[in-house]
Amino acid sequence: MSEARIAKLRGELQGLGGDAMLITSDLNRRYLTGFTGTAGVVLVTASGASLFTDFRYTEQATAQSSGVEVTEHPTTGYYDLVAEKLRGEGAGRLLFEDSAVSYAAYATFKERLAPVELVPAGKVLERLRAVKEDSELSVIQEAADIADKTFAHILGFIKPGAKESDIALEMEFYMRKLGASGTSFDTIVASGVRSAMPHGVASDRTIGSGEFVTLDFGAYYKGYCSDLTRTVVVGPASDRHREIYGIVLEAQLHALENLKPGMSGREADALTRDIITRYGYGDQYGHSTGHGIGLDIHEEPRLSFSAPDTILLPGHVVTVEPGIYLPGFGGVRIEDDVVLTDDGIKILTRSPKELIVLD
Ligand code: ZN
Ligand code: ZN
Repeated sequence: MSEARIAKLRGELQGLGGDAMLITSDLNRRYLTGFTGTAGVVLVTASGASLFTDFRYTEQATAQSSGVEVTEHPTTGYYDLVAEKLRGEGAGRLLFEDSAVSYAAYATFKERLAPVELVPAGKVLERLRAVKEDSELSVIQEAADIADKTFAHILGFIKPGAKESDIALEMEFYMRKLGASGTSFDTIVASGVRSAMPHGVASDRTIGSGEFVTLDFGAYYKGYCSDLTRTVVVGPASDRHREIYGIVLEAQLHALENLKPGMSGREADALTRDIITRYGYGDQYGHSTGHGIGLDIHEEPRLSFSAPDTILLPGHVVTVEPGIYLPGFGGVRIEDDVVLTDDGIKILTRSPKELIVLD
């Protein structure tokens, strides 16, 4: 697994203008090596790959990683070891993760690795990570299954008088019972007027009658994230509830039917946006259609108006999550996780989507 990923990265080095790449971010380090610790850097050169970590992690890194040579670095840091390796291979141009490295870290690289030339790598690893292997897909499917089971479980708890934060707690407890090590992100339980906030993390608000309740949550399972949103009504449901819900559902189903590889991020976004705009609610849909999920909850690719250059590929795992948000009334979002196949998609989350009205 690691060997193949490292080989893919190695194949990209020259095209990016580098002789080697230094990987410092946690998730990319984990992706390349399998090592789950929180400290260490990976150096990929034309002929080898090294994982430098400190005393606390050497044993774990040796046990978990493959395809890399594990070296313990002294408390003064890994810089001298990296510089030595680069010198030994005659590597003068070092790619680094420009969107993950702080200015302070950059300044230290410049000083400690001199005379090496530092070259921004862009999102090369994020692009590689976006295309999932079969082993990753099966873990993400399990994470999605946990989310589906949790939605079915929580419906019985959503009623007038219930507190958002109690519902979130029950969902998180249940996901953990099903094997999740945590949540993909802070659980959103947004009821009534709060459902008009796309990111209304559960509060101490009490749910009332005649309200939308939006649940947006995910299981963090074996290092991978799922991300599911359903909106229900705690009855009675008004015509307005039904109208808004129906539009969002139509947009979401249209996207699921038409999403396929070869589309740009912007084209994919238009699948939901055009419908919502046609009904007159374009201004109340202020976020993009979806995002990649994987080791991270928001990763490449983006299904967004601002991603015209992103091309969807088989193996990409993305969310499809249109919404309409009406301040003072409430909002609806419906979100599924899907994987792009050779000619369309496979849907990973299977919770029901017809409007559920709870009494
Ligand atoms: Zn979500
Ligand atoms: Zn999402």
